[in-house]
Amino acid sequence: MSEQSSAWSSIDQIASEVLACTRCVLADTRINAVPGDGSTNAAVMFIGEGPGKNEDEQGLPFVGRAGKLLDTLLDEVPLRRDDVFITNVVKCRPPSNRDPEPDEVAACLPYLEAQIELIDPRVIVTLGRHSMLRFYPQGKISNDHGRIINIGKRVLLPVYHPAAALRNPRLNETLRADMRRIPEAVRESLLLRTASRADVKSTVGEVRTREYAQGAAISARETETDSAPAPEMEEAGDDQDQMTLF
Ligand code: SF4
Repeated sequence: MSEQSSAWSSIDQIASEVLACTRCVLADTRINAVPGDGSTNAAVMFIGEGPGKNEDEQGLPFVGRAGKLLDTLLDEVPLRRDDVFITNVVKCRPPSNRDPEPDEVAACLPYLEAQIELIDPRVIVTLGRHSMLRFYPQGKISNDHGRIINIGKRVLLPVYHPAAALRNPRLNETLRADMRRIPEAVRESLLLRTASRADVKSTVGEVRTREYAQGAAISARETETDSAPAPEMEEAGDDQDQMTLF
């Protein structure tokens, strides 16, 4: 999934457009569009496939039986809904809960991409097979559920959909165990970012060494730069805040 600069500058702006959206035929049969809900600063983002009947009626994600199970599992991590952001690949309910068609997914994808770009979660937890395939097309949910997968600057944790777990008690236990890996996934994502910062620092270090060799005039600039807080240090503080989640 590509992450490009979008036309929206806030999660609320995206939500407003979703609520009035008629880009695909799902607009004809929905009661409410369901843009998503939760913290706009979340380290962990949950993505399901599409709203169901209860979500369509209430305009909120994961509010039926599957949503209640998700709440229980979040509690065990422990996380609250307010700590995370929950949304779907398509924001309107497909009739009779059928799988969304490719053109419907394509029409809705810019909203999801913009949500990811703005929230910038460290961990994406996909709920169910269809959602996982958007981020990890080569994946197989029976093999890859509960795996922490590096997808660039964040990590992916695919898990079974709570609705599937409600139907099958064995999957319920599997889902529960996979959800307990969320703290580990967050730690993994922080290591990923620290490693990429180390790469940046080493590149900056090489450039500085070359500049020193080129003349004393550079020294004054270095002194000035070193006295200001390095951006990566400020970001490290932000990561530290996210670690307090666990
Ligand atoms: S599913 Fe997405 S693209 Fe289709 S009408 Fe709803 S918000 Fe618009």
